Amino acid sequence: MKSKTALGVAVLGATGSIGASTLDLVARHPDLYSVVAVTAHRSVDRLIELCRRHRPTFAVLSGVAETAGLRKRFADAGFRGELLFGAAALEDVARHAEAEIVMAAIVGAAGLSSTLAAASAGKRVLLANKEALVMAGPLLMQAVRRAHAVLLPIDSEHNAVFQCLPQGEAGRPSLRAVRRVLLTASGGPFRTLPAERLAQVTPEEACAHPNWVMGRKISVDSATMMNKGLEVIEARWLFDIPPERIEVVIHPQSIVHSLVEYIDGSVIAQLSNPDMRVPIAHALAYPERIESGAHPLDLSALGQLSFEPPDTQRFPCLQLAYQALHAGGTTPAHLNAANEMAVDAFLAGRLRFTSIADVIADVLERLPAQDPTSLDDLLEADAAARRTAAASIEHYQARAA
Ligand code: NAD
Ligand code: MG
Repeated sequence: MKSKTALGVAVLGATGSIGASTLDLVARHPDLYSVVAVTAHRSVDRLIELCRRHRPTFAVLSGVAETAGLRKRFADAGFRGELLFGAAALEDVARHAEAEIVMAAIVGAAGLSSTLAAASAGKRVLLANKEALVMAGPLLMQAVRRAHAVLLPIDSEHNAVFQCLPQGEAGRPSLRAVRRVLLTASGGPFRTLPAERLAQVTPEEACAHPNWVMGRKISVDSATMMNKGLEVIEARWLFDIPPERIEVVIHPQSIVHSLVEYIDGSVIAQLSNPDMRVPIAHALAYPERIESGAHPLDLSALGQLSFEPPDTQRFPCLQLAYQALHAGGTTPAHLNAANEMAVDAFLAGRLRFTSIADVIADVLERLPAQDPTSLDDLLEADAAARRTAAASIEHYQARAA
């Protein structure tokens, strides 16, 4: 039974890994939350299943053309809500009055417009879609401030940092007396692999993350360490902290999710077992707490937690992200688009793992930074970087053949 006082949640990217964890939490707390909308790009069967289980008001298929056959399949499955088609419907459900909470869990640049729509409508935005902040950090943060939206990070590192910071103005985290933010990184599946073996790794090996089960794109990002690069940019905008005060430390066990160092030398960390339901539960209930279903942490069973510096020789993507942040303007959007293209090509078997960084470096070198003033400027920067990346991918593909 849906509770009348429950908060409505729109889950953008409901068929993905973060979407599944979010829906699991909502189902655990039917008195607190109800599902208003679920969206998928093309996974029709999985979306039908979610409609059956969660009975949302809206279901969106953003990457499928409308057909009577599809409508009938949803109706036959007992779906009595509204079925919407096309990418614009993502924005419609993101700003809908019934959606008090919007989980932005679409992967990649495709999630930017709906995330921005939710922020501009003053929603409580649970941000998993880090690429939106990488592409459009200043624009998105401005929309949040103007519309008095509440932006809560879902990325485990940023959620950890958020939990380690005191509240400042308007309930936003305060950076007062903070010396550094330390983002932890697992190091991914190739942390200890010798440099000469990296060129031969397969998509399956790259997607076999030691600690987390995630979508394929972020899994490859973790393997190249571009994920941490994107997270440095994400932290820069979320917490309004300059890049030179954001550091990365490798922590293979993924138990300490990040740390904040204060000027007096105190370092505060957030720990939990690696389960995305922990940060999602935090953001759903904030400033309250709810049960997440995650296993309690047993430190003595774990025995050891270890830390080491990142190896920027074998994993050049992290430096590329710092470089893009320093260049500013449209360059982080270029970085993100080039990375999405290169990761797609790698997953499709068209590009070597080690060429992912080469393609991104090429794109950064060829495209000058411009000063974006609107979403359109950023979408144009994204498109230009995709064209340049496509040519670069062909070049590396020809060299590998
Ligand atoms: P996923 O691949 O499992 O799911 C992606 C979702 O986005 C699916 O519902 C899919 O239908 C939808 N989608 C894909 N392409 C789309 C498009 N063009 N238009 C509209 N919708 C589209 O990905 P995920 O692992 O759940 O990650 C989602 C986001 O959360 C990413 O930005 C990722 O970086 C971030 N994130 C994920 C994790 C994790 O543990 N999985 C952790 C931190 C951050
Ligand atoms: Mg993360």
